Amino acid sequence: MSTAQLSFDIDALIHQAAVETAPTWDGAPLGYHEQYRTPAELDAAWKRWQFENGSFGCVPYSHMWHSDKYRRGEEISIGAHQNASFQADARCDGGRFGGPEHDHADGELPGDLMYQIICGPCRWHTISTSENAAVEAWHDHVLPGWRDLPVVPKKLAEHGGERKKLARLQTWLEEHYPAAWQAPGFPIISERSTYGTRHVPGRSPWGGYDLSDSAL
Ligand SMILES: [Zn+2]
Ligand SMILES: [Zn+2]
Repeated sequence: MSTAQLSFDIDALIHQAAVETAPTWDGAPLGYHEQYRTPAELDAAWKRWQFENGSFGCVPYSHMWHSDKYRRGEEISIGAHQNASFQADARCDGGRFGGPEHDHADGELPGDLMYQIICGPCRWHTISTSENAAVEAWHDHVLPGWRDLPVVPKKLAEHGGERKKLARLQTWLEEHYPAAWQAPGFPIISERSTYGTRHVPGRSPWGGYDLSDSAL
């Protein structure tokens, strides 16, 4: 046995002992579920699953809620409301293509990619197979009436980050958007082509969503 193999085995034994002696888990379920849980509880459960099973393939094998903060940069908040976005891969191959073999009870998994947004201060959440639908439900919760916002014309919305075009967009928004809605975390609605209808977090000039007019 090589030294490398020996140290790998010892590491595995140490890890196994750590898992066996860890306190019994009584946090959020270590699998797919649709209970209301705080973002911190979901994060803690996600860490626990990885501690017990390793992080390789953890998204498809655990089917658990995990934060997509890494894509968004930070959480969006409007007043006392917060937007914590999570995803879960609730499709299952039962371990046939790698990963631990396992089964599910009937109706336990929706069999789709799932999206959840939580407003912690309100203990409110929404779950959908559509990321856009979840984002729209969150805006319904926080900003009833958002569908009446003016739609930013495509030629202004497609600024590509250019300074001059951004300034033009800013001027247009100042003229057309309600003053009270030009505040941190607030969204804009923009005209899109058939493709690219995703609601993009953090892309409004106020750090809120750039919502696609496909929502209207
Ligand atoms: Zn709220
Ligand atoms: Zn499964």
